[in-house]
Amino acid sequence: MKITDALLTMGASHGRTGKAINPKGIVVHYVANPGSSAISNRNYFENGSNGRGVSSHYIVGLQGEIIRCIPETEVAMHAGAAYSSAYLEQAKVNNSIYYGIETCHPNADGKFSDITNLSLIELCADMCVHHGFDPHKKLFTHNEVTGKLCPLYYVNHPEEWLKFKDDVQDMLSKTTLPSGYVNLAVGNKNYEIEAVNINGRFYSTLDNLTKVLDGKKIVSIRDVLEANGYTVTWNESLQRITAVMNNSKAFSQMDVNF
Ligand SMILES: [Zn+2]
Repeated sequence: MKITDALLTMGASHGRTGKAINPKGIVVHYVANPGSSAISNRNYFENGSNGRGVSSHYIVGLQGEIIRCIPETEVAMHAGAAYSSAYLEQAKVNNSIYYGIETCHPNADGKFSDITNLSLIELCADMCVHHGFDPHKKLFTHNEVTGKLCPLYYVNHPEEWLKFKDDVQDMLSKTTLPSGYVNLAVGNKNYEIEAVNINGRFYSTLDNLTKVLDGKKIVSIRDVLEANGYTVTWNESLQRITAVMNNSKAFSQMDVNF
């Protein structure tokens, strides 16, 4: 999963207040503009959204690309208006507690393409891992928190929304492994791992470090780092690896590219 940063300019007119979020879940939206791209929707936010000052943390595009508009430490303006009286109180707090993901779609029925949906599943699974969210309890449609008919396809096909949450749970299960391990399998495909690149340096001493766990080929990033002289600590509650050599960190964030 690759996320491209295109952060909005700070300021209420751009939908970015800078207020701190107290994250309790994720709200999924559709852009309601068939065929529009992720970057064009991001620019709509940036340019003031016709005076509405709306925004979202992420936008998932028609090719499955993911743009980050607002950091996960801040609120976004995506679910603050109630669409029926039943949601007046809920709508007041939505933006202070929920992450917002806008999703692009090719047609007016709002159905996401397979590649877009897969990226959305990966993003939701990744956020659920980082924030300790149970997908079945912490993923919401915009409709569920304000009454708006958004995302339209899932409002019209509630059984597909349940399946979506199941898919996020499946993806999350695949990516949650014992301490110190990173799963380098993607979907049902197995990849031959040749080397790991950390901060531009290739580590290719993987032959002796590859293990099989539950039928999957696994490389422990701890083993790779320790074999290359790093001291590694693992924070179980934060699910975070820190690797240090000569008093400098190896990395603060890890991307796995294929
Ligand atoms: Zn929405």
